[in-house]
Amino acid sequence: MTLSRTSGTRLVALLGDPVRHSLSPTFQNAAFHAAELDAIYVALRCDAADVPGLIAGLARAGGAGNVTVPHKRVAARAVERATAAVERTGACNTFWLESGVVCGDNTDVVGFGRAVEDLLGGPPRGARVLLIGAGGAAGAALCSLLDEQAEEVLILNRTHAKARALAERFAGSTTRIHIAEDLEASDAGNFDLAVNATSLGLRPDDPLPMEIDARVTADAVLDMVYSPRRTRWVREHLARGTRASDGLEMLLHQGAAAFERWWGIPAPIPVMRAALPPR
Ligand code: NAP
Repeated sequence: MTLSRTSGTRLVALLGDPVRHSLSPTFQNAAFHAAELDAIYVALRCDAADVPGLIAGLARAGGAGNVTVPHKRVAARAVERATAAVERTGACNTFWLESGVVCGDNTDVVGFGRAVEDLLGGPPRGARVLLIGAGGAAGAALCSLLDEQAEEVLILNRTHAKARALAERFAGSTTRIHIAEDLEASDAGNFDLAVNATSLGLRPDDPLPMEIDARVTADAVLDMVYSPRRTRWVREHLARGTRASDGLEMLLHQGAAAFERWWGIPAPIPVMRAALPPR
């Protein structure tokens, strides 16, 4: 692939720590090339203290970017105009300049929503959902599930106080949000969808986010984590005949939504998908 590099080339950067594992440069550069944009996407490992300056500097110099772990909260405070998704989740993963104003969005929300639709064959309206995790990714998932009018979300997290804080952040919606302090002791039953929003599964020897047994079952399973061979949680559910997918589809759609914020044109999704590892 030949990327144009001229005196007009625009720089789009991923800010995070670490960033070496990221697939965003691969599929965003493929998209820039397909859309004939004079732009390049790079990953920059950086410290939190440098994030506000990098966001302002890149955006004001004609560029834009993404933000990943652990800087999404810092980024939310750094942008001058935040979308409702940023306000509600307290996290920003995409920034750009619009009419001289540094804008920020959290496209993980729409990325999660599209991945769920892809898995279930439609939006999770009226669904009963088990959400495992209470960090930034869980916040984006909860935001999307509320927008799509899920019936009920049960949050299960290692640190109960964080699960409570997440539920409180989204209190007042029509979706019923509960906290599972101990899932095995509760009468949890069957879920339409179970979501892994913890970081468990990144390493091959990680325990499963939740043991697979007859007491707590799910019709479909979405793991936000992705790895070259799919995660063990996804592989074990697929082996039992349960619909399951890993975080690659979410990654693709959060990236497509970011592309559309930066350039104001539809993202070439088939090109971006083709640049990702095969499934
Ligand atoms: P985060 O804010 O640091 O939250 C981490 C979550 O994982 C917390 O709920 C934490 O529980 C839990 N956790 C970590 N280690 C654990 C362990 N040993 N046992 C049980 N729970 C554990 O991170 P995040 O931003 O939410 O990201 C979570 C995952 O989602 C990451 O793997 C990230 O790559 C993935 N993600 C994927 C996409 C995508 O596009 N596919 C987008 C965003 C994030 P405690 O609260 O108890 O610490």
